Amino acid sequence: MDKLTALLTKQKAFQKPAIEERLRILRKLKEVIKQQEKDILQALAHDLHKSEQEAYTTEVGMVYEEINHTMKHLHKWAKTSNVKTPLTHLGSKSMIIKEPYGSVLVIAPWNYPFQLALSPLVGAISAGNAVTLKPSELTPQVSQVIRTIVERVFQEDQAVVVEGGVDISTQLLKQPFDYIFFTGSVSVGKIVMEAAAKHLTPVTLELGGKSPCIVMPDADLKLAAKRITFGKFTNAGQTCIAPDYLLVHESVKEELLREMTVCIHDFFGEQPEINPHFGKNVSQRHFDRLSQFLSNGTIVTGGQRNEQELKIAPTILDHISWDDPVMQEEIFGPILPVMTFDSLDEAADMIKARPKPLALYLFTTSKQTESYVLDHLSFGGGCINDTLMHVATPYLPFGGIGESGMGRYHGRESFFTFTHEKSVLRQTNRFDFSFRYPNAKNGLDIVRKFLK
Ligand code: NAD
Repeated sequence: MDKLTALLTKQKAFQKPAIEERLRILRKLKEVIKQQEKDILQALAHDLHKSEQEAYTTEVGMVYEEINHTMKHLHKWAKTSNVKTPLTHLGSKSMIIKEPYGSVLVIAPWNYPFQLALSPLVGAISAGNAVTLKPSELTPQVSQVIRTIVERVFQEDQAVVVEGGVDISTQLLKQPFDYIFFTGSVSVGKIVMEAAAKHLTPVTLELGGKSPCIVMPDADLKLAAKRITFGKFTNAGQTCIAPDYLLVHESVKEELLREMTVCIHDFFGEQPEINPHFGKNVSQRHFDRLSQFLSNGTIVTGGQRNEQELKIAPTILDHISWDDPVMQEEIFGPILPVMTFDSLDEAADMIKARPKPLALYLFTTSKQTESYVLDHLSFGGGCINDTLMHVATPYLPFGGIGESGMGRYHGRESFFTFTHEKSVLRQTNRFDFSFRYPNAKNGLDIVRKFLK
């Protein structure tokens, strides 16, 4: 038996822990993360040049919140729920038992390498599963710290980290896991789903795509500029829900871009490409891919490159069309193409003509515009008058639709994503209605009275 098969065999034999035990392990997980916090922040600074503030807010802090929220509500979520029983089933009772799927494979990406590995782990563990976690190979120091944490908290049969790249991922995907939770690109999402189909393994796919940001003439432009700049250039644009492109009403474009240029300098200085706290692109390949987009349209601000540190200054590109290379794929970097529209219908039509995005942002002060966009456009989730913030609350399920993914998690949804809801009807033996049996006299007449 190879190593991965042996590991999975162990995890399949893992017995679902009692709720108190799950709480104990979550507490321990938080404790160990606290003890390793310095190493995590250092690893994030090394692998992605994340500043301490950014790393704490978007990675470590979010995981603490996920653990706190889960611990607070776990008893309630995990409790067997009694539900109604229809009159046709007189004498019986119905319940839904919260059962873990069993063995879960979590495959994580590199852009928020800590949070996107640990948050699904928290959900899967709280639901009582055993977990095999594969972090991204592109952020090796973070991967190493995750491994240390998991080894300190868990026995191998409950949770284990398997490090490696495409090879290992491919081998893991051949195994008959009971659930697969994947975060990454659309193209690899398709590979994951195909592999899962071989064993009929259910999947959650947290993918990406091109998320639009619409700015209306009635928006508070100063605030919009600040919040869009924040959402786009956090982690150097390597955020799955970053605004990918700007759709701004022609009449306010100049002013918005002027304000955004001011914000960029305020946030990251006059030379962001040499600012140690501005994020780097994860690899030379990613840097080269992004660099090619800089010749699209005209540069409003930015465009400077620091090849040594793989950094590109926050860049705004004007005069862009749908035919430009930058509009052909998810950008996933600090480059913001700008397109304009004259009417909201026109903007909506452009979005509807493309795959359903993971996120959508709308800046407006009109309730009517807001209703129109929410009624007419389909997208994973988003914000009105803000960016990114919908991801940072445990009360909003997070996930995509169509090409941007399937399934959801965070807070309560994480628990239920990793839980099979087993429906059970307990029948009485005190009496028995004979009309359902094939030999019953007037059986059909009686059934017709109930089911009409
Ligand atoms: P990726 O798809 O290249 O890699 C993700 C994971 O899959 C990594 O662990 C990698 O080792 C593995 N992998 C890569 N190629 C594989 C293959 N051929 N077979 C099996 N496994 C393979 O994604 P990435 O570059 O790490 O992350 C960027 C993408 O992830 C972007 O598209 C982004 O939008 C998306 N993303 C989505 C979310 C979300 O929550 N929806 C969050 C972060 C990133």
